[in-house]
Amino acid sequence: MARILLVEDNPLNAKLARVILERAGYRVEVAADAPEAEQSIRAMRPDLILMDLGLPGKDGYTLTHELRQAPETHDIPVLAVTSFAMKGDEQKAMEAGCSGYLTKPISRESMLREVRGLLDRSSGPDGTPRAEGI
Ligand code: MN
Repeated sequence: MARILLVEDNPLNAKLARVILERAGYRVEVAADAPEAEQSIRAMRPDLILMDLGLPGKDGYTLTHELRQAPETHDIPVLAVTSFAMKGDEQKAMEAGCSGYLTKPISRESMLREVRGLLDRSSGPDGTPRAEGI
């Protein structure tokens, strides 16, 4: 089953998203800020990253942009999750290199639909995630 890194600084939001994803069968790790996320990415090689854009310190836009520049992370899909439900944020997230965008409060249905869609898109013809085994 696919590995998902959840980057979220709010413990309650992180817990909610983790429960939704784990019940759907995904393996989930949580990182609360950019340094933790960078460490987890190296350790677990996630198939997908759920990225809260509002993080303390380095924000999710900057972190996503950096992941896009690095050869070892540039093809990991990043699904932006944000409470900044403001006009222009979706475009800003896409410009930073996010592959999709979810607005808080998160609904189970929309989260799982986006996650499945992005994992399908990044899978090989046999359904194996491309990042597997690298
Ligand atoms: Mn946040």
